[in-house]
Amino acid sequence: MSHPTFSSVTPALIDALCAIVGTPYVSTRNIDRQARSIDVSGHLPHASDVVVWAQNAAQVAQILKLASQQRVPVTPWGAGSSVEGNPIPVQGGILLSLEQMDHVIAIHGADMQATVQAGVKFRVLNAELQPQGLFFACNTGGDATIGGLLANNAAGPKAVKYGAAKDNVLHIQVALADGRLIECGCRSIKQSSGYDLTHLFVGSEGTLGVITEATVKLMPIPQHVSAVLATFPSVQAAIDTVVAMKRSGLDAGALEFMGAEFAEFLNQTSASYANERALAMLPTLFMEFYAPDAAALATGLQQVRQLCQANAAIQVQATSDPHQREQLWAARYAAYTTCQQVFAGQRLLTTDTAVPLSAYAALVGYIEAELKTRALRGFLLGHAGDGNMHVILPYADAATEAQVMAFNAALVERSLQLGGTSTGEHGVGLGKRAYMRREHGPALDVMRDLKKLFDPHGVLNPGKIFEVNG
Ligand SMILES: Cc1cc2nc3c(=O)[nH]c(=O)nc-3n(C[C@H](O)[C@H](O)[C@H](O)COP(=O)(O)OP(=O)(O)OC[C@H]3O[C@@H](n4cnc5c(N)ncnc54)[C@H](O)[C@@H]3O)c2cc1C
Repeated sequence: MSHPTFSSVTPALIDALCAIVGTPYVSTRNIDRQARSIDVSGHLPHASDVVVWAQNAAQVAQILKLASQQRVPVTPWGAGSSVEGNPIPVQGGILLSLEQMDHVIAIHGADMQATVQAGVKFRVLNAELQPQGLFFACNTGGDATIGGLLANNAAGPKAVKYGAAKDNVLHIQVALADGRLIECGCRSIKQSSGYDLTHLFVGSEGTLGVITEATVKLMPIPQHVSAVLATFPSVQAAIDTVVAMKRSGLDAGALEFMGAEFAEFLNQTSASYANERALAMLPTLFMEFYAPDAAALATGLQQVRQLCQANAAIQVQATSDPHQREQLWAARYAAYTTCQQVFAGQRLLTTDTAVPLSAYAALVGYIEAELKTRALRGFLLGHAGDGNMHVILPYADAATEAQVMAFNAALVERSLQLGGTSTGEHGVGLGKRAYMRREHGPALDVMRDLKKLFDPHGVLNPGKIFEVNG
């Protein structure tokens, strides 16, 4: 059903879309619309009226112009691996898929850069880069596209070393709602020329334009890597260790926190982990460190152990053997998918607030107390090095859903009070819209002004970041 603001998809519009991309690349089939009606969040699915697969940037620009002229919603789609309803076409209309725009245009080895079409999946890019010893470091657990990572400003476990998507992009090509195709940024590492439009589009979730191409930074694949799993008597001790690691000068590639309840839950449920190396029911850190050679890695590990022990670590397991590294991290890798499997048939809310690291232990304490008071089941998994915390909460009925949402609202409020944000890496999508005014105050009006400038008819991914007409 279309919102009154918008026009319906008509047979004439379908003909026009076919003329732009070719008939095989336009589908009104249920199977295609349903497959792109939901991401991995608990938000309810909503199908578009038509799916269109663009094959190049010029086609994307033409589709946006047409959609604007006809006041038809158009929602970009990368791989649908979002966690906040970001790509769900809640207003119907056109689902603009970038799946066919999956060409690696150029690898600039000496510059450590790659130029890709927006629909290239980061795993595919990294497989192509592997022989050159390079990789795109902003990767998440999802099978995401470069365009989707940029559009959500996603991050992930390695962000503590490599930063978020915003830190790994130099140039983007963007199709605008009026049909213009613009280049933002360039391939120079240093750029100081005019307004930074690149980073305006990064994190805009397809509400300001559609990224058609990007030049991203590449990093050398670390050759000497260790994995460490450490348990602590308290959350504070674990977080103090994270602070100590960050201040130590050690080259940390990941500093991940897992709550005691989650560790115990994975012991009981994760097929990939159970009986291998049972986790203790304690606050746990999963860490990864890099060094230029094996000797430096070994010296670094000694320092890691000392820092853990200085914070009363109960157990420290460390290895640089590649197979054992995988084993040590198995529970962390399996955490989200285990929840999906164990709670299949239920919906999952994944919170995403982030706070300054100094407030992280207080945040965890607040979460644990609130879960107890509200008698809710929630699993804590955090990118602790970045002060980012996810609580995964399953819910199956309306009453529990209301409690879960009330918990999330309280958590966002607490995180804002602690100097943080409602979303560290998943974006606003549908679930965080309600907090935008509280978080941004008058700056939200400036965001709305920008939205109107880029998308005067409000057709680009309507209902995301802001309510439609809200
Ligand atoms: C198991 C699992 C683990 C995950 N772990 C993490 C994690 O650790 N950190 C993290 O940050 N995320 C994580 N995610 C979430 C997800 O991978 C990211 O949000 C990712 O950015 C989504 O990319 P996508 O290609 O699937 O985009 P989609 O989900 O298809 O779209 C993302 C948003 O961008 C828009 N969009 C898509 N392509 C374009 C484009 N070319 N131009 C403009 N707008 C566009 C869409 O309309 C939507 O609003 C995880 C997901 C899963 C399933």
